[in-house]
Amino acid sequence: MLYRVIDAAELPLLVSAFMQQYEVVAPVKRGRSYVFDAIEHPEDMVLDYPTTSASLKKYFLPPKETLMRFNAQTNRVAEHTLEVPPRVIFGAHACDINAINRLDQVFRDGTYNDPYYCARRDATLIVGISCTPADSCFCHLWDADEARFGYDLFLQDIGGRFLVSISSVEAANILESACNPREATDQDRIDFRHATRRRQASFNPGIPDIQDVAMLMDAFHKDDFWEELGSRCLSCSACAAVCPTCFCFDLQDRLSPDGTQGERYRVWDACTSPQFAQVAGGHNFRPEGRERVRHRMYHKLNGFLANHDRMLCVGCGRCVKACKADINPVKVLEFFKQKGADDASAA
Ligand code: SF4
Ligand code: SF4
Repeated sequence: MLYRVIDAAELPLLVSAFMQQYEVVAPVKRGRSYVFDAIEHPEDMVLDYPTTSASLKKYFLPPKETLMRFNAQTNRVAEHTLEVPPRVIFGAHACDINAINRLDQVFRDGTYNDPYYCARRDATLIVGISCTPADSCFCHLWDADEARFGYDLFLQDIGGRFLVSISSVEAANILESACNPREATDQDRIDFRHATRRRQASFNPGIPDIQDVAMLMDAFHKDDFWEELGSRCLSCSACAAVCPTCFCFDLQDRLSPDGTQGERYRVWDACTSPQFAQVAGGHNFRPEGRERVRHRMYHKLNGFLANHDRMLCVGCGRCVKACKADINPVKVLEFFKQKGADDASAA
């Protein structure tokens, strides 16, 4: 990895240089929340921000997108060209970069790559930035508080200057042309270490660290806990909408009024929706809230890990804030912490 240091005052120059060639998407304040949006001026962005309310996945998997158009009479598929603007996502936190890495595993690096996802991913540069954890963050439990790959530049605030990790030639050239990057000194490295320690010490100690949660979930698959959790679910899909790693979608066809033309599109879907597991003939594989919520938590904390060697949850905490019924992975961790305490007192 190549490291350089730039002064904090040079950051607007870097953003302006990106803006010459790319659409720049960055965190901005909207009311009391922060969201990622396209910016027109470097001063529009707010880099010292808590987790945004919505994630970055809409830039790779839009909530709704047309996959193809077809002639319903000839059964011919019409050409569908995808227009992808070259884009820079500036100021992504490590958890969100790790979330994109998970999406890459599914849509780009798996057995079947998704051309729509890949086109957007290939057209996007990612500039990460260090953060200060909020009370709802638990990315450190799943090793998602540091981004080791999946970005072009990563900016670590080391006090009045940034230690920049560089991992693409394209971004390195822009950094070189816009700023005055210098070699990192020993003091820069020491300050980087201190900044990392400060971040690691800032996580909410009240969120239990249960590293063997996946195995425990298998052991407690039938526990009443899932009934209690699932019975509260409102099926509102807010958790899936805000989650940076929820990627399920539904495919739908829509015909023109005269029935001659049609389009096939995909829309975000959520496994907490009652119809999600309903199949032709009307059978529903997960008719109960208990089964749906348990399925969601298992996919996040157990199933994806078995298949891809990582949790599908990156601990961003968005669902902790978004779910009005207080259903989230932290509740699962708290349950197993309590189970551990019960076992200890029974022994
Ligand atoms: S499950 Fe919740 S905490 Fe985990 S990645 Fe999704 S929104 Fe973030
Ligand atoms: S778990 Fe919470 S956010 Fe998700 S669908 Fe149920 S009530 Fe809505």
